[in-house]
Amino acid sequence: MKTCLLCNRVMKRTLSLHELFSFQPYHDSPACNSCLAKFTRIDRETACPACSRLQKNKEICIDCKKWQKEYPDRLIRHRSLYQYDEKLKEWLSQYKFVGDVRFASLFQTDLKKLYHQNKGYIFVPLPISKKSREERGFNQSELLLQTAGVPYQDILINHYSGEKQSEKNRQERLISQQPFQLLNQGEVKNKSFLLFDDVYTTGRTMLHAKALLDSAGAADILSLSIGR
Ligand SMILES: [Zn+2]
Ligand SMILES: [Zn+2]
Repeated sequence: MKTCLLCNRVMKRTLSLHELFSFQPYHDSPACNSCLAKFTRIDRETACPACSRLQKNKEICIDCKKWQKEYPDRLIRHRSLYQYDEKLKEWLSQYKFVGDVRFASLFQTDLKKLYHQNKGYIFVPLPISKKSREERGFNQSELLLQTAGVPYQDILINHYSGEKQSEKNRQERLISQQPFQLLNQGEVKNKSFLLFDDVYTTGRTMLHAKALLDSAGAADILSLSIGR
């Protein structure tokens, strides 16, 4: 019998009539509905239209206004799925820092759905530094896509060699240098990309990646993260 990844209770799953007769592949969730309901899903009606930051109105948020000044012709079109609250931090810490890779499957249904909604885009997980990869053993964003069965391309490398992002404070992150490099400049022109990262904090990392693809002639760039 299958148990919930988060609470270990046995999951009873009954197919609805619609699911039975839709003949669509059935996406099995690794966690029960009551555990999944504890995560705060970002409703786009009450979020920043550019970066999905959860807020009371639909205006561009402070972070995005700042980026607009710095990159007036590069409007962010970012979608985040869940609020980066205590619950999401708990998940990320089990997955990314404890290294329990079973947790990579938690949001696979969301990722599969977004892949089907963005079929014309090449999914690109943001790479982590060599040092982080050696310590952790995996790139958390890449493994999330892999686990969900979402095809992706590794077109970026991260040559950052200093301390890990999570050890730096917000101010230091805002001014950090371009950490990415394109593997093959020629493979970007006129193609559309969807950049993917586990968490979007200030947007700095995502904008570095976006700026690189923009200058290499990408046709369109969207981005996505689990948390914001
Ligand atoms: Zn549960
Ligand atoms: Zn915003």
